Amino acid sequence: MTDLLDRYTEVAGRDVVEHLRQLAAPLSGARVVHVNSTREGGGVAEILRELVPLMQALDIKASWEVISGSPDFYECTKGFHNALQGITVTIPDALLQVYEETNRQNAEYLRPALEEADFVFIHDPQPAPLIAHIPDHAGPWIWRCHIDVRRPYRRVWRYLKRWVSQYDASIFSLPEYAQPLPHPQYLIPPSIDPLSEKNRDLPAEEVTAVRERFGLDPALPLILQVSRFDRFKDPLGVIQAYKLVKKLSPVQLVLAGGGASDDPEGEVVLNQVLQAAAGDPNIHVLLLPSDAHRTINALQRAADLVLQKSIREGFGLTVTEAMWKNKPVIGGDTGGIRLQVIDHYTGFLVRTPEGAALRIRYLLHQRDQLEQIGERAHRFVWENFLITRQLREYLTLMLGLRFGEADRIEVGV
Ligand code: UDP
Repeated sequence: MTDLLDRYTEVAGRDVVEHLRQLAAPLSGARVVHVNSTREGGGVAEILRELVPLMQALDIKASWEVISGSPDFYECTKGFHNALQGITVTIPDALLQVYEETNRQNAEYLRPALEEADFVFIHDPQPAPLIAHIPDHAGPWIWRCHIDVRRPYRRVWRYLKRWVSQYDASIFSLPEYAQPLPHPQYLIPPSIDPLSEKNRDLPAEEVTAVRERFGLDPALPLILQVSRFDRFKDPLGVIQAYKLVKKLSPVQLVLAGGGASDDPEGEVVLNQVLQAAAGDPNIHVLLLPSDAHRTINALQRAADLVLQKSIREGFGLTVTEAMWKNKPVIGGDTGGIRLQVIDHYTGFLVRTPEGAALRIRYLLHQRDQLEQIGERAHRFVWENFLITRQLREYLTLMLGLRFGEADRIEVGV
């Protein structure tokens, strides 16, 4: 199992991997359970897919469980998601009952794993009430919030707080997201795995083949947004920006996306996108299967620059992924995008389609700037947003929770 970790020495550095081994030594054999609500689609699944095997390689007994429910359950939890990101949402009591009942049922089959776990990480609001059904648990429970909760809609947050308050700690991605809660809060931004199918280097021929497969013109500048079809990702704003650019410079746009099994609103947004794109052969709306990681990797590499014009964004792994591939990102001036896109340095922050169009035109015409910004973006991700950093912070948190009362914690192998 150590082979997996060794592979990270080349990209992250020997000292970084050694440090992980030292931090993990006192946690050897610990049972860690992560729970979320989808195995495919969206950033949480993306992270867990890579993080869990890495924990296992450090001799931690990590596992990943997924809760499931009826369409009403996902309608309710999508309502939570929208409300936590600041939208006024009324969730009928009947849906709240489905939410609570679904968690009760899922708790039944997860009970053995959750009761004996030394650490439980519950991701986002969907599985939050599980804690109420496992009163006799061995280790601490941590609520890991991936959402932009800077200004949650209060009524819904008050309801969710009932569950969240029962946890021993919570993790947010940014300081602005911290909430009044009766337990310690930790700030750990997400990360990408540089060795995953999504992010590893690809042969140039593979990138060319993907360009050909989707009928993209190699002679036309390519701008790209990869996202679930979600209104917070503002795909319509992206199309508007593209249309403004096109008036003055030839360009093609790819909007690549798919659904997440816990997101019931995707279809409505997709239909709006298809309508806005209709009749323009240079807008390519690509509906990709949830495991099309290499295809997305190739599209990100084929693009001249990448957009992430979100109006709310917990973190934005698509931003990190593009920056890692030396692409300047033109991102919405919000949430986790601000942590990654340093305006004029690793990309540009924008608030309107007009602003995005201005920056797109600038970069397409100033190729030296595009390259320099792309190089700085890659370096910035290397320094801050690789999975080795996130794993180190999770291990440190676990050490703190387990040995926090001790006078000293012995780390080392
Ligand atoms: N993604 C994907 N296929 C898609 C759309 C998105 O694989 O059709 C991936 C994307 O590459 C990224 C993750 O899903 O790794 C989305 O994470 P992000 O934090 O950007 O947004 P979220 O969907 O979690 O809001």
